Amino acid sequence: MSIATWLRRNAQWRPEKLALVSGARRFTYRAFDERVNRLTRALVDAGVARGDRVAVISNNAAEAVEALGAAAKGGFAHVPINFRLSPREVAQILDHSGAKVVIVEEEFAGTVAGIDTGTGPRVVRYDPRTAAASDYERWIAAYEPTDPGIDTTEEDDFLVIYTSGTTGTPKGVHFKQRQPMVYAPVAVIHCELKPDSRLLMVYPHNSIASVNSYYVPAWMMGATVVLSDARGFSAERWLAEVEREAITHSFLVPTMLIRILDSGAVPSFDVSSLVTIGYGSASIPRQRVEELCAVFGDVLLQGYGMTETSAMAVGLTKADHRAALEGDGRKLASCGRPIYGCEVRVVNEAGEDVGPGEAGEVIFRGPLLFSGYWNDPERTAAAVRGGWLYSGDIAEVDEDGFLYIVDRKSDLIISGAYNISSKEVEEVLGWHAAVAEAAVVARPDPEWGEKVHAFVVRREGGTAGEAELIAFCREHLARIKCPDRVEFVDGLPRNALGKLVKGELRERVRAAAKAMVQ
Ligand code: ATP
Repeated sequence: MSIATWLRRNAQWRPEKLALVSGARRFTYRAFDERVNRLTRALVDAGVARGDRVAVISNNAAEAVEALGAAAKGGFAHVPINFRLSPREVAQILDHSGAKVVIVEEEFAGTVAGIDTGTGPRVVRYDPRTAAASDYERWIAAYEPTDPGIDTTEEDDFLVIYTSGTTGTPKGVHFKQRQPMVYAPVAVIHCELKPDSRLLMVYPHNSIASVNSYYVPAWMMGATVVLSDARGFSAERWLAEVEREAITHSFLVPTMLIRILDSGAVPSFDVSSLVTIGYGSASIPRQRVEELCAVFGDVLLQGYGMTETSAMAVGLTKADHRAALEGDGRKLASCGRPIYGCEVRVVNEAGEDVGPGEAGEVIFRGPLLFSGYWNDPERTAAAVRGGWLYSGDIAEVDEDGFLYIVDRKSDLIISGAYNISSKEVEEVLGWHAAVAEAAVVARPDPEWGEKVHAFVVRREGGTAGEAELIAFCREHLARIKCPDRVEFVDGLPRNALGKLVKGELRERVRAAAKAMVQ
């Protein structure tokens, strides 16, 4: 079996079914398969062999999805690169992955302008606005639309995803076709995916969710994927797309959901087609989950995992949300229980499972785990020990086996030998009416080792000052956990997925503390 089998079956069994919507362009499964076949043949003719890498720098567009399909048909590894990266960062990934061809959207062509065409990868440009006239279109049109007949299997290379690097330089997380094929039933079972599902894709193309939560499960079921612009999220645009395309499924990050809630625009749109809204990638305050349930009803599903675990390894299912709302709501603060394809443990420093209420590191094992970091055996060996992937996430488990993420190990604040969860403090700050969002980091302190330093973005019209917010925290938190400095900012540094880049804030605080000492 291979992912290519699913593409072939769709073209054969449901040729007129809508596979992909990309702006004004709509592709049936037959048309999509034919374009994938032409591209696979073009790549083979350009010297790309089984196991070679093909990079893509794009917004969400049909050409990028075709390149993923060609990876499945040709046994190539697809390397999606974040279109926001600088030419230097792009060159680093192209070099590290050894990509033979890079397919680039016209708008981002500047990021590869410096490539040496003699020694570097071949660059092919496409432009979704004038698709028919682009180099890409002329290139693939010269090849037959029939299946290239390459007998790929689940053991062929398929994907190298460079993670966003919230904890250091990017690593290429490598997968065979096998892991997405093991993961696809997770999406089908837990997200209630069916052949008539219509998925609205809002994640950037370079995220694991795009492959594992959208494309591959949609191909498995013969469902439809509608692509949304990933250059900037707009709550109103998302709502309008859900209404226009009768969307059944969409997976979002908390910052997107919070924007949708705060827009107050949900009642103005028909969102009754929605079956599942998946959320994850970062923590979200419980109060916000309650608001989401009130606005959208019984459609929410939370996933917790890492790129390295193929996406969600732990899930707070729709039934769990229902049960929590009928009970005391406590479990809405949890990211759920292990679901399928991944063993999950929470262990202490000695490697023993922690008891209820104790904190430990989350570790994973099983068929969903990645095949290692591309070309980086040292970092692979540091992350995977004795077959277990060490996540760097600290969590607690309750008596029913539900996981509660406390913090990332690197984000914990250690003050006077006491471990403080930055996430807990951020959640409490978020309860204050004047606070739109907060980020909490450690500030070096000569007496305590570290102290709690908060960055706060005020809500429009919010006037609370530093003293009021510190006093507010003291009402709800032990004194040692309360920030002793609150700095007001216009926005927080986030990566392409909307995740906080705390390293930047820590650097700022450290530099300021150093300047004070000097
Ligand atoms: P890098 O691995 O380079 O730091 P990254 O953080 O963007 O980059 P990902 O694999 O995308 O890498 O993110 C995985 C991390 O996201 C998890 O380890 C966890 O800290 C966080 N995360 C994912 N889902 C959730 C969730 N539901 N709740 C809280 N945190 C989550």
